[in-house]
This record gives sequence, C-alpha cells and structure tokens, in this order.
Amino acid sequence: MSSLSPKFSRRELMAGAAGAAALTALSGNLIPAAQAKAPLLGASRPTHYRFKLGEFEITTIYDGALAIPKVYPIFGKNQKIEDVKAYLIQNNLPTDKMTISFTPVIVNTGKEVVMFDSGYGEERRAKGAGKAATALATAGFTPDQIDIIVITHCHPDHVSGLMENGKAVFPNARYVAGDVEYNFWSKKDLLESSNKSMVRRAQAVQNNVVPLAEKIEFIKPGADVVTGITSVKAFGHTPGHMCFHIESAGKRFLIFADVTNHYVVSLAKPDWHCVFDMDAEAAVVTRKKILDMIAADKIPSAGYHMPFPAVGYVEKRGAGYRWVPASYQLDL
Ligand SMILES: [Zn+2]
Repeated sequence: MSSLSPKFSRRELMAGAAGAAALTALSGNLIPAAQAKAPLLGASRPTHYRFKLGEFEITTIYDGALAIPKVYPIFGKNQKIEDVKAYLIQNNLPTDKMTISFTPVIVNTGKEVVMFDSGYGEERRAKGAGKAATALATAGFTPDQIDIIVITHCHPDHVSGLMENGKAVFPNARYVAGDVEYNFWSKKDLLESSNKSMVRRAQAVQNNVVPLAEKIEFIKPGADVVTGITSVKAFGHTPGHMCFHIESAGKRFLIFADVTNHYVVSLAKPDWHCVFDMDAEAAVVTRKKILDMIAADKIPSAGYHMPFPAVGYVEKRGAGYRWVPASYQLDL
C-alpha cells in the first residue's frame, strides 16, 4: 500500500485488498467458502448512556430522531444558501436533509431521581421519536421511580412525552418549570395565532403541561431544583428557556438543552440564525455566553439535540466553537 499515491484510485485500492486476502489465505488462515446466512436486522443504536458525576449518576435517554428533508433555511437563515451548503459539504454533511434527535437526561442524586424533559411522546412516535419510555425501561428505570421532572422549555419535543392518552406518564412525579416560560406558553390566545407552528406548539402545552399545573413548582433562573441542581438563565430559544448546572462532590456538568440545535453549525457558526429559536438574536447572545462558559470551565455537558449519547465538551475555535463528544473521560 505504501507505493500508492494519496490520490489512489478505487481500482488500485480493490487490487490491494485482493492481494492482502490472497496473502492471508497463503499464510494458512483459510476463510470458509460458505458464509453463514442471517437476516438483515435493520439499523440499530444504543438507547442510553450512564456515568458517575461525583456522588450522582447521570443517564442520557434516546427518545428517537426525526428525518427533516432540508437544512437551509432552518440553519443559517441570515446567510446565503451557497455559503450554508458549502459549509455542510466541508463538514461531510448532506445539504438537503438531516435528522434531529432528542435526548432527555436523568440525574439520580441518591435521594431523588430527576428527569430533564420528556421526549416527543405520541405526537411524533409514528415518525421515529417519542421512544423515551422504552429507552427508560432498557436503562433500568420505571416511570413511577421518577420523582421530579424539570422542563427546560415548553417546545413539544420536550413536553409532549409528559402525557399519554390524556394520562400522566410519570405517576409519582412533581414538576419544575420556569415561570416566564410557563406564563408565555399557557396563554390561551396563542391558539388563535395566524402562525400554524405556534398553534401546534401552544396546543401541545395545553394538552401536556397545563393539566399538570397543580403539581408544577415555578422557578426563576438561579433557583435550586434540589441540592446540586441549579437553573441558569438562557432565554432566546424560547422566552423562558433555561439550562441546568449539576454539581456533586466538586464535579460539574451542564445540561444546556436547546442552546444549540445542530452539533456542527450551531457551534462553529453561533451567529447563524436557527428558525427554531423564537428570538434569533437573543439566542445568539445566549449561545455564545453559555458555550463560552462550558469551554472556559472545561466542564462536560449534555445538549438535547447533540448526536446521541449527546454528552461532550465544547472547545473554543476561532470565532466559534467545536463539539467534542465525550469518549472515556466520564467512565474512569
Ligand atoms: Zn428542542
């Protein structure tokens, strides 16, 4: 292989592989002539990841993903389409489609089991999301073990998994939500909006959050959910969107929810608008502030729409950032 130039052809490569196979055969390592037959099983992936953080245990749960038949103008709406496409190609990403995945996080403090967001529930199950309850069981939890559900914000991919067939999915849970966020989304007049996606989102809140209102504790940024879990102001994506800082025995972690919605574009190009951000400019300011903090403090973090298991680090790079998926750092 060493004689091949860096621009070797597919033919040269295949010839090389055939030569290597012949050498293997000559060395006595004979490959059986008949290969065993087994049915193709379809695509598959792990659905949970668990690690220790100080005295706490953190588990990320795969709720599934949706296929979306475009990238622009969802990302880079304030840029030229050619520039967005060129950047995607440079990063080995298709320009005309993508998937967006959903990852609730469970923090077991040893005293209480706290779940952050609930997945898409029935609303998008036929399209590949809403599988958090199944992944929860595989991860060793039953719905009645969840003591507290923290709502980072009220978009349907975060709250529609709270109810199933009109019943609460987590029978023993109490809930925590930002007061600004809930006050915005629970207004009934949003259902009269001329914006169809606003109506769909507001309806999801009426169906899945409002019926639980008596069990919700409404908090402001900077408040503790329980000892070691503190809300962090991150308004912009939605009017009251919040992140959550986790700390146990000196170890820190940040659940940054929807501060970023794409693992390459949102980080490398933090100024590019994302149509999921309700106040795009405020979201840019928040994105830079939160990513600066994660990068400067070198703390591990989880992002709801980062590729599963959605746990990693943020590095500062030029005018932007880079998502670095965790490997073994949290397993040691
Ligand atoms: Zn989201």
